Amino acid sequence: MKTFRSDLHIHTCLSPCADWDMSPKGIVSECIKKDIDLIAICDHNTTQNSLAVMNAAKKSKIQVLPGFEICSKEEVHILAIFDDIEIANNMQDYIYENLKGKNIPEIFGYQVISNMNDEVEGENERFLLGAVNKSINEIAERVQALKGLCIPSHIDRKVYGLISQLGYIPENLKIDAVEMVANVMDLKYSSSLSNYKIVKSSDAHYKKDIGRRLTLFTMESPEISEIKKALIGIDGRGMELI
Ligand SMILES: [Zn+2]
Ligand SMILES: [Zn+2]
Repeated sequence: MKTFRSDLHIHTCLSPCADWDMSPKGIVSECIKKDIDLIAICDHNTTQNSLAVMNAAKKSKIQVLPGFEICSKEEVHILAIFDDIEIANNMQDYIYENLKGKNIPEIFGYQVISNMNDEVEGENERFLLGAVNKSINEIAERVQALKGLCIPSHIDRKVYGLISQLGYIPENLKIDAVEMVANVMDLKYSSSLSNYKIVKSSDAHYKKDIGRRLTLFTMESPEISEIKKALIGIDGRGMELI
């Protein structure tokens, strides 16, 4: 059993709102500097740069999981994280089928596709900041069917969070945890969240922010099934917020 210092919400230069320095090699070197063991790449509505970061990390101790930060039709942000790129690409097909519009880089920002050596391969022309025409329930079900990890992002933020958009957490929503950015002991949330596991991650759009919030997972290996066990606290696995 090992304890993984984990940051499961990191954007790359593919997110129009993220810094160009958020390149595959740039992210990996920052994680090495900050002694982070496990990260997930969660760009807005795409996983297209995940493989480049996974490959850039291959010779390091950093484990990289492919993922997304999906925007549902209710404009709720949800992290969807998977074990391997094939499954993530399956999710990507579903998202792209339900995401309309083209990006206007001059207004929303550039969406840079990078290879593992930080070389620009092109631009993603979709409107990645848009909302996918699927509900949070539909998205969560799809993620669980693909054996992914489903975590609504920054639920305590005033925009694009589950509580800011809906005002509550639907009881039957198939999520593994919720992500919070502020003080988890905030009284406003403590009773309504008692049924949910809480994780913290950086939501980094700039290198300096990587690892500013972390979750420690104690588990056998950096896999989704192990993270799920650590969240529930079974079979000797566990988690802690730092
Ligand atoms: Zn977000
Ligand atoms: Zn984010």
